Amino acid sequence: MSVDSYDVVVIGSGVGGLTSAALLAKRGLKVLVLEQSRRIGGCCSNCDVRGFRPDVGAIFVIAHEMYHILFDLLEMRLEDHLDFRPLDPVYDAVLGDGSRYLLPRDVDAMGEVVRSISPGDEDGYRRWCRDMDRVFRAYLKTMGATPRSLEAVLSPERLLRMGVGPQQALALPVAAKHLTRNLEKLVNGYFRDDRLRMLFGWENLYAALPAHRCLGAFSMITYFGRMGYHYPKGGMIAIPRALERIMLGFGGEIRYGASVQRIMLRGRRAAGVRLEGGEEIPASAVISDIHTRTTYLDLVGAENLPAWAAKTVRRQPCSIPAPTFYLGLSEKLPSVRSHMSVVLPDKLRFDRIWTNYYDRGLLYRPDDGGFLVSCASHDDPDLAPPGKQVLSVIYVAPYRLQYYDWDRIGEEWAWELVDNLEKRAFPGLRSKVEWMDSVTPLELERRLRLPEGAFFGLEMSGTNMGPFRPNWRSRLVEGLYLAGQCTNPGGGVPLVMLSGIHASSALVKDWNKLKATCC
Ligand SMILES: Cc1cc2nc3c(=O)[nH]c(=O)nc-3n(C[C@H](O)[C@H](O)[C@H](O)COP(=O)(O)OP(=O)(O)OC[C@H]3O[C@@H](n4cnc5c(N)ncnc54)[C@H](O)[C@@H]3O)c2cc1C
Repeated sequence: MSVDSYDVVVIGSGVGGLTSAALLAKRGLKVLVLEQSRRIGGCCSNCDVRGFRPDVGAIFVIAHEMYHILFDLLEMRLEDHLDFRPLDPVYDAVLGDGSRYLLPRDVDAMGEVVRSISPGDEDGYRRWCRDMDRVFRAYLKTMGATPRSLEAVLSPERLLRMGVGPQQALALPVAAKHLTRNLEKLVNGYFRDDRLRMLFGWENLYAALPAHRCLGAFSMITYFGRMGYHYPKGGMIAIPRALERIMLGFGGEIRYGASVQRIMLRGRRAAGVRLEGGEEIPASAVISDIHTRTTYLDLVGAENLPAWAAKTVRRQPCSIPAPTFYLGLSEKLPSVRSHMSVVLPDKLRFDRIWTNYYDRGLLYRPDDGGFLVSCASHDDPDLAPPGKQVLSVIYVAPYRLQYYDWDRIGEEWAWELVDNLEKRAFPGLRSKVEWMDSVTPLELERRLRLPEGAFFGLEMSGTNMGPFRPNWRSRLVEGLYLAGQCTNPGGGVPLVMLSGIHASSALVKDWNKLKATCC
């Protein structure tokens, strides 16, 4: 083997890839992470322009308890590496009729909000809490089944501990409802008032699907909000940075500005990678943390795949894009009342975004739009220059526009949205903007090499979630493993971490065979 060869090369420094890299470096393998950009973390990161440090993609973490599984496997304490802080209020909701509600974490205090909106819906809210709590308790029990080692991640004994117990039995009927009903039907079963249906049912925005095509299970995100949306001190980038530090501590390496052009093959076996510029890095195994479409069609090469496989990969639908713009404000706006604000139109307009605009490649009227506004510096002033404020605004829009070119209208459109946000939620916003960066779907695709700028890589519909997503062990190329949002179980910062655990677990189980057949 040449001096510069590695046991494992990881393509991409997203949370999924770094999770695998940290675990495998701890295991004593010689690991190298290759990141095409100059910044760590991919969609879970913060940029830094003149002291304004907005979230690049992800704006909070739900189910942060999952991170204990990783830190247990690393034999470290989560608290020593990451300071997750709960968001309370969960968010500030601005609805289409102009009404505005700060939503508290506390279940009873939230009950008061529900009563103030529609007294007749309080019983439905209590039923909703009881049902969601059953699933939440089952989830906590499942999360408690920590694996003893990487090999034991999918052991029958652990799966049994995860799946069987009184909490799981109690949760079964609700879970069945979550999996068989769409979000709209599920939420309508609890609430009658349209404003509450909106407050408890807009999370299809995360699935990037209309509510009638979105799994009822997304309703759990609302409940997780009560139990805790969390934001790490130092911004979302604190998560990949912590994983990077741990990996480096175990002897792993990382290179920035290193773009992988090709996965080198020997027969049907991955043998390392070739970078843009021609440098070759041999490795016994490769983990790809990037979009499966790019991994297979470009890096492995469609010509090296069976025709049916290339066709299947090509057909997997991308999730919708999450165009974003970042705003650096010259002073703090009092109307930004919490870390996160959600600005929504009324229910009818919201539902029509998909059919009337999105599916037809059209930009909607700003008044019809829904926005997630995250203010990273609200609870962590270090993320903006003293006395100033930073915002990331995420909205929904198609990747392909029928009448416009994103590169030409991106910035103008973002300013229109700024004006709309000023009107609907944040008076005086435009005059405070000191710096703005509009990241259209095309721009996100370019910056992160993320096909279609897709929010979660592949679509998060029932038929593309969990085991229906690509597996961690490639069935097409030996020695190739997949982590990240396009793989089982799906997108989102906690789930990609799980994918990183599973990819490294699969690799470790195969390790003796891989060593015997490599180079
Ligand atoms: C706008 C937006 C908002 C989001 N909000 C949330 C949220 O609030 N909460 C949440 O949990 N999730 C959220 N998500 C989803 C979440 O951020 C992602 O699912 C997750 O971070 C993806 O991690 P990953 O491991 O798949 O890798 P990615 O983050 O996709 O990173 C892949 C990395 O690979 C690099 N790369 C690509 N090609 C190459 C190559 N050829 N060679 C070398 N390097 C390469 C990229 O530069 C990138 O750094 C959001 C996503 C977006 C886009």
